[in-house]
Amino acid sequence: MHIAIVGDGFSGTLFALKIAAAKPQARVTVIGRERRLGRGLAYGAADPMHMLNVPVSRMDLGLQPSFHDWLRAEHGDHWTLEDFAPRALFGDYMEALAATATTTERIHRVRGEAVGMDNGLRSSVLLADGRTVAADVVVLALGNLPPDRPGGMPEIVLDSDLFVSDPWAAGALDGLPSEAPVLLIGAGLTMIDIALRLAGRRHRGTMTAVSRRGLLPRGHVAGGIWPAFLHELVGHSPRTIARELRRQVRLAQVAGTPWQRVFDAARPAVPAVWSAWSLAERRRFLKRLRPWWDVHRHRTAPEVTANLQALLDGGRLEVLGGRFGDVSIMDGVAKIQVAVDGVTRTVDASRVINCTGPGGRFDRTAIPLIADLRAKGLARADALGLGLDTQGGAVVGVSGDPSERLFALGPLAKAAWWEITAVPEITIQIDDLVRRLANEATPASPLSATAFMDMGAGI
Ligand SMILES: Cc1cc2nc3c(=O)[nH]c(=O)nc-3n(C[C@H](O)[C@H](O)[C@H](O)COP(=O)(O)OP(=O)(O)OC[C@H]3O[C@@H](n4cnc5c(N)ncnc54)[C@H](O)[C@@H]3O)c2cc1C
Repeated sequence: MHIAIVGDGFSGTLFALKIAAAKPQARVTVIGRERRLGRGLAYGAADPMHMLNVPVSRMDLGLQPSFHDWLRAEHGDHWTLEDFAPRALFGDYMEALAATATTTERIHRVRGEAVGMDNGLRSSVLLADGRTVAADVVVLALGNLPPDRPGGMPEIVLDSDLFVSDPWAAGALDGLPSEAPVLLIGAGLTMIDIALRLAGRRHRGTMTAVSRRGLLPRGHVAGGIWPAFLHELVGHSPRTIARELRRQVRLAQVAGTPWQRVFDAARPAVPAVWSAWSLAERRRFLKRLRPWWDVHRHRTAPEVTANLQALLDGGRLEVLGGRFGDVSIMDGVAKIQVAVDGVTRTVDASRVINCTGPGGRFDRTAIPLIADLRAKGLARADALGLGLDTQGGAVVGVSGDPSERLFALGPLAKAAWWEITAVPEITIQIDDLVRRLANEATPASPLSATAFMDMGAGI
């Protein structure tokens, strides 16, 4: 059997390592455009001040050496499971694991951009340079889409050279004068990454972050445990779930336990809660509860919290909750009106950086591979604009049937599980697909939400 994986980042590489170990007779090929295998966006384009947003213990992949053992061996035995490590170090770890597997030829690499797929008797992946890779099974691990065009910002800015549409693109921040005022659209983890990156480059211009509500991600706090409680509420509405979360937070406060443990205890049940909701309930969650959920769920490492606070306290970064109004551009500076609590402020910006986070518009994106899969009916967008339509990990085509040969890993499958963008859940998803493909004689049943329930407390 030949298994081709499109995507050479975290998900594609971890899957390659695990399937190559579980199915030694299979040929495993990773197709990707990056020079360094296993890093992807999160662990590749990271500066030293960009930290993992979970402690070392939560980055365990079920491989030897573990991240913790590797850290201690390579970077000193002071590392504990509770520490937060730089993201680049996790990238080094992934790359080291992958290097062993590629040099022993358990994993083959094809460097290039996949631009299309054919699904005849066998599948073949088409590359931009005209080559094709034929395979029995294709696994898509393309990571996050570039950010969507932000709503609310006038077109005159979005179509100007002041606008940076993808802050992670190579050279996105190049040529920015150090005194230039900058407007960051969004106030989540991407905004914090970019503000810290600019500060690390000694940027002295003012940074203003604007989102609808101006909510910042909360920080991690160690200590305490909280029992699982959300498991019993699967099938209940978003409103009931939110009410119960608030109630549990109040109980935790009374018990002297950080509220963070309540969210951690809830997380393993999130895929089950999400998949039990109707489309209308999911839509309601996204509209009303998502901003509130996101800032409590996606938290900052203590060092990042401190660095962010220093930027805020020093007046180098301001965060506003508001809506954009009129804009005028003169001499390379946009004057952007922002309505904050009924008062209109004018923010100057020599660059407007899109920090709204990963995009999800598979129905619109012109990325060649996705456009080709869409055009051939091999894949379709989910109904909410979150990612690809998948069932139990298999990609669903226009026929509505899940494919037996085309699978999707990681953020691509967000529409099915919601909570599938971070290492613990992606690892569960990968282990499940490995089991299915390794047991051809007695195929295991497709991934179900209960697989995530055993993830353990304190995630
Ligand atoms: C900035 C950031 C920080 C994060 N921090 C954490 C964290 O601290 N802890 C945590 O648990 N999770 C974190 N995450 C979540 C993260 O999404 C996952 O951990 C993981 O990186 C997703 O892996 P992936 O392989 O799906 O995507 P990626 O790792 O981004 O890999 C996708 C790869 O596919 C390649 N590719 C895409 N399309 C094609 C194509 N057509 N042809 C060839 N190659 C292609 C890309 O070049 C890329 O290398 C973070 C995410 C981001 C964006």
